Amino acid sequence: MVIAMQRGCPKSEVGRVIAVLKEHGLQARVISSGARVVLGVVEEINRGLAQALMERVRDMAGVEEVHGFETSWKLVSREFQPEPTVIDLGGVSLGGESVVVIAGPCAVESEEGFLHVARELAPLGAGALRGGAFKPRTSPYSFRGLGEEGLKIMARARELTGLPIVTEVLRASEVELVASYADVLQIGTRNMQNFSLLEAVGEVDKPVLLKRGMMASIQELLLSAEYILARGNQQVMLCERGIRTFETETRNTLDISAVPLLKQYSHLPVVVDPSHAVGKRELVPALARAALAAGADGLLLEVHPRPERALSDGRQSLSLSQFADLMSGLERVAGAVGRHLAGGPA
Ligand code: PEP
Ligand code: MN
Repeated sequence: MVIAMQRGCPKSEVGRVIAVLKEHGLQARVISSGARVVLGVVEEINRGLAQALMERVRDMAGVEEVHGFETSWKLVSREFQPEPTVIDLGGVSLGGESVVVIAGPCAVESEEGFLHVARELAPLGAGALRGGAFKPRTSPYSFRGLGEEGLKIMARARELTGLPIVTEVLRASEVELVASYADVLQIGTRNMQNFSLLEAVGEVDKPVLLKRGMMASIQELLLSAEYILARGNQQVMLCERGIRTFETETRNTLDISAVPLLKQYSHLPVVVDPSHAVGKRELVPALARAALAAGADGLLLEVHPRPERALSDGRQSLSLSQFADLMSGLERVAGAVGRHLAGGPA
């Protein structure tokens, strides 16, 4: 329910509306303050009660208009917040004018290897470092990450480069541990609808990179983000990482239309991961450029110093020189759509 108060109405009238909602156990959230206060109630209540309550509130002093939310996602919607959300990743802003490139290997494989790639990536314009310490793998026999040791290595890389670190959390019980090292918590495609995990990251004060499920619709992605915001964490980035289609030439199909669509529906920033989308390193640069042109606020790129030796996702990982080539052209693409690359730490 959205309640628009009359322009300049006294605070006491706003207070009375809030009190009536509270009587029904409902929380009024401020959508807009200033001259014209707009309140939002996101909880769903039974139809009859909602109808009666809307009529009652409509008749109250100072109320101009009452209507239902246009969509089933609410806190993430543009209706709730028209202006875009800008997220501080830890010294680097994502969602404003600049575009942030988050780069690194699929997994943290060793201290030496990760510190090496981190040192190389920083001067090339990476705005944040990625790497998996807890890896979700299709086969139980594949390399599943170094666990907490991987997190420690990433924290050392942050010390060395000043770049924030982005890493995946697989289980609700590990959110606290991962959040104690990471700057950004990644929720992977396989966990997009792990609702208890979403609620757990909704309770921490760390930005979340929420990847679209490989078989999830845009509506489902937005509703998963809603789970996180509903628990109080507003710092969510939506990540398009390719969806499964009938096409077998690419690992997944990058849904480029998701970028403008998500930005139309939601105030949350959008990150594109061309690496997992296409699965072939030679195709990653073209998709990265397309993502920026379509309005992405960030890119997630897998980079490995020796992709052919990577313990996971080597086929889609750029080498350092391929990453350097891509970065040198990306600035122009960003410029063409009125953006610029965030670059490394201040
Ligand atoms: C990853 O980022 O390495 C990863 C596992 O991604 P996704 O969840 O999109 O497959
Ligand atoms: Mn990967």
